[in-house]
Amino acid sequence: VKQSYPVNEIFLTIQGEGRWTGRAAVFVRLQGCDVGCPWCDTKWTWSIDEENEVTRNVVLLKDEDPSDRFAKFDAAGIVDAILYVLNDSDTRHVVITGGEPGIYDLDPLLDELIRAGFYVQIESSGTYRLPMREGYWLTLSPKLNMPGGRSVLETNWIRADEIKLPVGKLADIEAFVDNRRRFKLKVPVYLQPLSQSNAATRLCVSAATRRGWGVSIQTHKYIGVR
Ligand code: SF4
Repeated sequence: VKQSYPVNEIFLTIQGEGRWTGRAAVFVRLQGCDVGCPWCDTKWTWSIDEENEVTRNVVLLKDEDPSDRFAKFDAAGIVDAILYVLNDSDTRHVVITGGEPGIYDLDPLLDELIRAGFYVQIESSGTYRLPMREGYWLTLSPKLNMPGGRSVLETNWIRADEIKLPVGKLADIEAFVDNRRRFKLKVPVYLQPLSQSNAATRLCVSAATRRGWGVSIQTHKYIGVR
């Protein structure tokens, strides 16, 4: 059976977080997530309710505020939709995000995107199996001890190209440091203060400067893009 992907939205913007901050990119947001982060800023992506399935045009024209509606695309259909959204833009960076994109088998989608000449970045909580191969950038945003009860898979810790850690309190950093040690992680780490809170930002700056890590400040929220 061909994997079909429930797509919530596809849009051209500037990546605002982590290593690729500032880079023009097409975001493909897949619907569905059961990780349950209380502070999630895309809660409308959580449920996959058949009642909310719409036609692909509705998703492509995107003339409404974020909502929990989605349309199903196969991998080739996502490539077509990206080309439609790009119009005459030369942007070739594609970000697969969610929701939690790892719920779906992302291998066929990666194949199609790479064949079409795109550079692919996947953003994931790491709580589902992700493609175990080279040729794409994995932004692991580990969601530790969340209400959904899912844990971050060891294979995903090891495959990550960067870690983007949401930080609300010191315990969030400590939980990550344990895993970093355990899996001997060497990749760049970006601490991302939750909801631009001042206290969390101070915590991130202090930990990042001490450890030689980065701070990721969701720049898209400051420059008025999504
Ligand atoms: S993993 Fe991402 S989409 Fe899912 S609840 Fe957490 S922040 Fe939201």
